[in-house]
Amino acid sequence: MRFSKLYAPTLKEVPSDADIKSMELLIRGGFIRKVASGVYSYLPLGWKVIRKIENIVREEVNAIGAQEMLMPVVQPAELWKQTGRWDDYGPEMMKLTDRHNRSFTLGPTHEEMITHIVKNELISYKQLPTTLYQIATKYRDEIRPRFGVLRAREFIMKDAYSFHTSEESLDETYNDFYKAYEKILNRMDVEFVAVEADTGAIGGSNSHEFQVLAESGESTIFYCSECGYYATDEKAESGTKFEKTIEEMKDLKIVDTPNQKTIEEISKFLNTTPQNTIKSILLKGKEGWVLALIRGDYEINLSKIRTVANDQTLDLGEPGEIWNKFNVEIGFIGPIGIKDVKIIADYSIKTINNGVTGALEQDKHYINVNEGRDFNVDIYSDIRIISENEPCPKCGASLKSKKGIEVGQVFKLGTKYSEKMNGVYADENGRPKPYIMGCYGWGISRTLGAIVEQLHDENGIKWPKAIAPFEVIVINAAKTPEALQKSEEIYNELLKKGYDAALDDRKVSPGFKFKDSDLMGIPLKIVVGRSFKEGNVELKLRNEKDGEILKADTESILEK
Ligand code: ATP
Ligand code: MG
Ligand code: MG
Ligand code: MG
Repeated sequence: MRFSKLYAPTLKEVPSDADIKSMELLIRGGFIRKVASGVYSYLPLGWKVIRKIENIVREEVNAIGAQEMLMPVVQPAELWKQTGRWDDYGPEMMKLTDRHNRSFTLGPTHEEMITHIVKNELISYKQLPTTLYQIATKYRDEIRPRFGVLRAREFIMKDAYSFHTSEESLDETYNDFYKAYEKILNRMDVEFVAVEADTGAIGGSNSHEFQVLAESGESTIFYCSECGYYATDEKAESGTKFEKTIEEMKDLKIVDTPNQKTIEEISKFLNTTPQNTIKSILLKGKEGWVLALIRGDYEINLSKIRTVANDQTLDLGEPGEIWNKFNVEIGFIGPIGIKDVKIIADYSIKTINNGVTGALEQDKHYINVNEGRDFNVDIYSDIRIISENEPCPKCGASLKSKKGIEVGQVFKLGTKYSEKMNGVYADENGRPKPYIMGCYGWGISRTLGAIVEQLHDENGIKWPKAIAPFEVIVINAAKTPEALQKSEEIYNELLKKGYDAALDDRKVSPGFKFKDSDLMGIPLKIVVGRSFKEGNVELKLRNEKDGEILKADTESILEK
């Protein structure tokens, strides 16, 4: 690619809405442009990196026998009603209606769709196991889209689904994906960990997340350097249960509470209070119910509170923000019919006098609900408080923590979807059995941002070679026609040898070219510049301060 022809508008200024380094650098480097909150365009350079990430993922999952296909983004509501997730998934699911008043969703994930597609044709044990996947656009109406492509609303995911006749067969495929995911990250040359994870709304019995390590990551990973135990905060915390069921709660009186604080108000409040200490804690709703209010006289120090409803995390504040107050109200109204609700807060708590109330409808709350009489939130006994220096659940040594960005997750689903959707095969004796399933997600577009989060410096991005927009750039930094000719020659030779090479042939200053190349993160520069008079060129790695002077003949450069 000749830079004189390349469409990659670079910017000096930091975009005002860039809330994380990767977003800033990807915009300034000419990789992405924001279209709306959580919605991005990939410019040629961004798309090129995305395609390289995609290809690595594709190669590794093809290698374990998965078959690529493509499913629609638009999915009929009927499929989701069969599993109950039309109501359960919550507001992250974007719903739409066509001109005939039929309901659809822009698919946030594809378990229902794939089960629907295969169920009438994947009918014999002889056809199993089988694994299908796609690389496609997903849509999740995230409550707070942020951090650029890391938490977008429209994003690209690789999602794979496997079908089995036995748990052992599922284990095999699960392990294959686990290893493939390790290979993917190794090929990209990034630091990562695989951690035990919560299964969230997808359900099932077993799950791991793959986390790219970065200080700015949203996930806290607890780990034990003695026995190698790794878990995310969601997994590491264990919850307690409300003792009242939904049915029981329905007997309570519901009142209008128009003065309920909005999430925005709470966030604002959290944002303006001073800093303090903290622990993690998790409260888990029994079934189908949303905790709406924690009210009462307590002294509470919060560093972070978020609710997780059906795998959607609603952040009410940032880590490090503190809520320290008596007589507080924390409000959150979730959608009706939610199955799995957790309120996760990092806090230390002293006394509770009044308790927790909630509602099943927006702007309505139960009143006179008393802890002990109407329900129990046993936060003292049941909850495992996890923080650094807590004992490891496996070996008892002291836990440590670090921050990461979830780029992939593998799940054992079991028969959750096949049973509900009648996805059955005939076993050796002709008896119908539900498929045992697994699913395996990878955030392709999130990987773009995650790698930049880990690999950058004050001058820009430092792409690993495997996914860099160009492996090498030839920079013509001298004014003579001979120098330009030499640059062209080296560039053409590199292309011929199969390198993904660029040539900066623009009529701008050498300094400008170096800056752009570093901002874009190109791993290697070949500079035809000052030393060309002496018949030399300079080879300079993005990661190293000093270059290396080489004779300006193409052969010896290529040898290098
Ligand atoms: P998170 O915990 O960050 O919300 P998730 O657990 O909801 O992610 P999965 O359902 O496991 O996500 O989806 C598989 C992968 O898709 C994730 O591991 C992540 O890489 C990617 N992904 C999920 N949500 C987003 C998003 N809003 N923007 C970009 N990528 C995403
Ligand atoms: Mg999510
Ligand atoms: Mg997650
Ligand atoms: Mg996940």
